[in-house]
Amino acid sequence: MSEEPLKPSSFEVLGPVLDPECQLAVNAAAEALAAKLTPAQMELLKQFRIRFFKSDEKRGSHVDFENKEIVCNSDDAMMSLQQSEDYLVEQGIIESGDTINLLPDIKDQPWSTLTSELVHESGHILDKLSGGDSYSRLDPKFSPTKYGSEEPHEAFAEAFRFYVFGAADRLSPEALKAVEDTIHHNWGEL
Ligand SMILES: [Zn+2]
Repeated sequence: MSEEPLKPSSFEVLGPVLDPECQLAVNAAAEALAAKLTPAQMELLKQFRIRFFKSDEKRGSHVDFENKEIVCNSDDAMMSLQQSEDYLVEQGIIESGDTINLLPDIKDQPWSTLTSELVHESGHILDKLSGGDSYSRLDPKFSPTKYGSEEPHEAFAEAFRFYVFGAADRLSPEALKAVEDTIHHNWGEL
C-alpha cells in the first residue's frame, strides 16, 4: 500500500481507497474547499464521508444526508474530467468547457472527476445546512452551466463549484451573491 497519508483537512473515505490517485483527488477537493471556507464549515463538511458504489444505472454522485455520506459511482469518479466531460457533452447534459475549464491543470488526470464532484456535492451540503429554509437559493436561470439550469439547488451547487475553483468572475452577480451569502452568513447556529 502506498497511499498518500490522509491529510487532516481531507474527507474520510469509507472502505478502501481505490488507489493512490483517488486519495489525491479527494485531497485536492478538500484543499480547494479549505481555501475558501472557514474551519467551522470544513468541520461540517468533514462529517460527511465518501462512499463509492458501482452501478450501470445510477450514475454520478449525490449526498445522502441521512447517513452523512457523499455517495459516488466509482466508475464515473475515476474518469479524468476530460473523459467525463466528453461523455456528458455527448449526452447533452453539460456543455463543452463546463468542467474542464475550471481545472485545466488536472483535466487529464484519473479521478479528476471526483475532485470536481466533491466540490459540487459540498455545495449541496452547505446549501442545505446553512440555516433558513432556502434550499433553493438560486434561480436556475443564473446557473453558470447547463447542468444547473433546471433546478435551483443544482444551480447553486454549480455556482459554488465555480466559486471554489477560482472562477467567481464567471458567475452572474446573482449567483455570486447566493454563494457569498451562504458562505458568510447564517452559520451562527451550527
Ligand atoms: Zn448536484
